Amino acid sequence: MSFEKLGVIKELLEVIKELGYNEPTPIQKRAIPLVLAKNDVFATAQTGTGKTAAFGLPMLQRLRKAHLDEKREIKGLIISPTRELSIQIYEELQNYAKNMHLGISVLIGGKDIKHQKKLLKQNIDIVIGTPGRILEHTQKGLDLSHIEIFVLDEADRMLDMGFVKEIKKIHPLLPKRHQTLLFSATYSDKVRKLSKLILTKPEFVEVAKKNSTVEAINQVAYLVDADKKAPLLAYIIGSRNFKQVLVFTRTKASADVLTDELKKDGLKCGIIHGDKTQANRLKTLNEFKEGKIKVLVATDIASRGLDIEELPYVINYELPLVPEDYVHRVGRTGRAGRDGVAISLLDVDERFEIKRIEKLIGIKIPKESVKGFEPDPQIRRKDKDEVTPKSEHKQAQKRPAAKKTALRQPAEKKKIEKQKIEKKASPKPATTKKRKTKKR
Ligand code: ADP
Ligand code: MG
Repeated sequence: MSFEKLGVIKELLEVIKELGYNEPTPIQKRAIPLVLAKNDVFATAQTGTGKTAAFGLPMLQRLRKAHLDEKREIKGLIISPTRELSIQIYEELQNYAKNMHLGISVLIGGKDIKHQKKLLKQNIDIVIGTPGRILEHTQKGLDLSHIEIFVLDEADRMLDMGFVKEIKKIHPLLPKRHQTLLFSATYSDKVRKLSKLILTKPEFVEVAKKNSTVEAINQVAYLVDADKKAPLLAYIIGSRNFKQVLVFTRTKASADVLTDELKKDGLKCGIIHGDKTQANRLKTLNEFKEGKIKVLVATDIASRGLDIEELPYVINYELPLVPEDYVHRVGRTGRAGRDGVAISLLDVDERFEIKRIEKLIGIKIPKESVKGFEPDPQIRRKDKDEVTPKSEHKQAQKRPAAKKTALRQPAEKKKIEKQKIEKKASPKPATTKKRKTKKR
C-alpha cells in the first residue's frame, strides 16, 4: 500500500519521496483515509510510529490553498504538551508543506507573546502550540471560530500535565462543526473521558497492543547500588564507546547532580529539564543531534517530543515515577523500525519498582550485573514490610504526587518517597492526587 493509494496528493508525495518514506506506517495507513474523509479519529499508537505524518499529511491536504493570496482564516489547530514537541511538529509540517501555499505558526510559552501576535497577522492557516499559550492567545484576540481540524497530539501526556482545564476552555471556542483528531501513546481512563467530551462518532485506530514497548528495542536492567550508579554509567558509556546516549533521571535535581558527575569523568554532556530556558533547551538538543555532546541527561518532561534520528541508546538512570513514562522514555530509541537498546540501572528499591513496568509492558526485562559493579548483598531495602508487587501495582495507579523535596542522599530520598507512597496507599482508597509533572 503506497501513500498514493491512500489518496495523498502530488505536492505531498514529492516531499514524502524526498524524505525516503517508502511506504506508510500502519497508523498512517489507517488514519490518513479517515482524516481525508473528515471523520473524528481516536488513535492510540506507540511512540515512533509516525503519528505526526498520520495527522499532518491529510490535514495539510484538506486545508490546502490554490493561491498564496487567497483570504486566510485559521483553519487548523494542533495542541501538544511541550514546547519541544510543538516545535518538532511545526518543523515537520513546514517540511511536508513546502510545495503548498500554507502558513503555519507555532505558539509556545517562553517566547514574546506580542511578537507571536504579529506573526498571526501574516496569512496563517494552521497554528500549533501548547494548551496554555494557545488559550492565552485566544484571550488576546486569536480567533478559533473558523477551525476545521482540531488535533490533540500526545493527549495522555497533556492530561498528565494537568492541561485538562485549558483544553476544556479551548474546545468551546471552536465552531460547532469541526473535525477532531485525538492521538495518544497510551490508553488511560483520563484520555477516554476526554474523548467522550470532544469527539463525535469517532473512528478508532489502534495499531499496537496498548502500552507495549517497541519490539525492536532490546531491554536490559543492571542491578547496582545507588551510590555506584554514576560510576557505572560513566563506565558503560566509556567502555562501550557510546557516541550518543540519552539518560533519564527522575528529578531536575538528580539530573543536575548526575551531569556534574559525568562532566568530572570527562564526558561531554548536556542537560534538558523544565528549569532550562527554551533557547537553552533547543541549543542543547541541537548540540546533541550534531554529536557535539555525547550524553544528554533529561527528565521525563523532556522525554516526550524528542525525535532524534537513529538514537541508539536510552539509559534509565532512575526509573520513572509512573510506569507509563517508561514506555515514552524507551520510545526515544528504535524509532521507525531501527534497532535500539534501553538500559535501566536498578538500585535495591527499583528492583521492586520495575515489576510495575514489566506488568504494564507485558515483558520481563532481563536483570544482570556488570563486573566490578555488582550490588552489595548486605544492602537491603530499608522497610522491613516489603510491599508485594501486586499492591505496588495498585500504588502505581494511584499516581503519587511528584516530590518537591530537594535531592537528598539516594537511600534517604527513596525512603521518604516510599513512606509517602505508603501513607497515600492506606488505609482507605485515597482520592487520586494530581501529578505535578509540570514542576519537573
Ligand atoms: P510519533 O509521533 O508516533 O512518536 P513521529 O511522527 O515523530 O512519531 O515519527 C517518528 C520518525 O519516523 C520521524 O523521524 C519521522 O520522520 C519518521 N517517519 C514517519 N513516517 C515515516 C514513514 N512512512 N517511513 C519512514 N519514516 C517515517
Ligand atoms: Mg509524535
